[in-house]
Amino acid sequence: MTGASSSHAAIPQHGLTDRLTRWARGLSSKAEADQDVGESDPQRVRPGSIAHREITRRRKLYEDIGDFLFAHDLDLTPLNFGVAHDYLTGSHIGVEKAVKAVLAERGKITNGWVETVAAEQRTDEVTADALASMLSQVEENLSQFTGLMTESRNSAKDYGAALQEEVKGLSAEGNNEPVLARLVALTRSMVEKTRQVEMQLRNNQKQNLALKSSLETARRAAEHDHLTGLPNRRAFETALRQELELARERNEQLSVAFCDIDHFKQINDLHGHDTGDRVLKFVAGLLSKISNDRCHVARHGGEEFVMLFRGKTAAEACEAVDGVRADLSTRSLVNRTNGERMERVSFSAGVANVLFYDDPRAALKAADRALYLAKEHGRNRVYLAAEAD
Ligand code: GH3
Ligand code: MG
Ligand code: MG
Repeated sequence: MTGASSSHAAIPQHGLTDRLTRWARGLSSKAEADQDVGESDPQRVRPGSIAHREITRRRKLYEDIGDFLFAHDLDLTPLNFGVAHDYLTGSHIGVEKAVKAVLAERGKITNGWVETVAAEQRTDEVTADALASMLSQVEENLSQFTGLMTESRNSAKDYGAALQEEVKGLSAEGNNEPVLARLVALTRSMVEKTRQVEMQLRNNQKQNLALKSSLETARRAAEHDHLTGLPNRRAFETALRQELELARERNEQLSVAFCDIDHFKQINDLHGHDTGDRVLKFVAGLLSKISNDRCHVARHGGEEFVMLFRGKTAAEACEAVDGVRADLSTRSLVNRTNGERMERVSFSAGVANVLFYDDPRAALKAADRALYLAKEHGRNRVYLAAEAD
């Protein structure tokens, strides 16, 4: 019996038992081979081997990314790392093209530029191709999981049948040693097989956790604006539909406001795009100050922001927005690039009561028309939409 348990060669050929044992042994040698491929300890990697060349390539890329970030005086942020990586490896055509274009034009890229232009490229990627590839990975993991489950169930059945078959061979008087040896071998292969399945399940679970976090990042990126960190237009439209449903159910007021920074193009032209970006972030911050669970703020696009006020009439919402407008218009901002004081920054806004319209889009249009009138009448003011405009 000791001989049989210490050596596979001692196991006699025995139909199903033998087949299962060989199968489990095959799995275990495959797992060992997989582990070999995963070897990454550089100390143990042979110079000139494929693994060594791969490590050298990665080290070079790491250095190139560092050189790129320092050459352009870029902050060490994940976004800047990502863009440098995509550009240097050419793994994202959109980012590569955008970087090449700005380098040809200005010879240098800045933190602000990366945040706006490159971030847009990467957000697009997240919402389309990357999302599709993540979904197919989810599908693949699910089918792998289902496969593992079926395989485990079938092998448990096979083992049960094989055990029963062997047990039949046991007798009260005869020599049971060969049968016992096969039972031990069978049990070992069963344990081994269970260990393999467990390992594969653990890997599957690890991948699922990584996917969950990538999907969460993708969802955030798809619903948020990179520059200001505010929800974007898409997220706002979802919130508007949900809030409208709630407001109708609860018979509550619901108002919407469109805010647009005045003469923003001039700010860019006079002080540069980076300063323009900082002004955008500053205004976003001021509007966010009044946002809470009853007030949503989003960047609608460009220098336009949109707000949703739950439980407020249009006149009340108008007052809240006007408070921010007054606050901004009295501030004197400084251009951080050269320390110069900037001319006053202001915004205009239009407000409408969503419940006055059959369709939320009509309410948005009415707020936009009121905004247009606020601009027409001199800017730096908040106008109320005419009822059912
Ligand atoms: P008005 O008072 O009539 O609104 O004039 P305006 O100059 O604000 O409006 P216009 O639509 O002519 O210009 C908006 C400018 O906003 C043009 C565009 O380059 C700039 N812009 C849009 N998005 C961004 C951004 O993310 N960053 C920066 N810096 N500028 C942006
Ligand atoms: Mg505008
Ligand atoms: Mg504007």
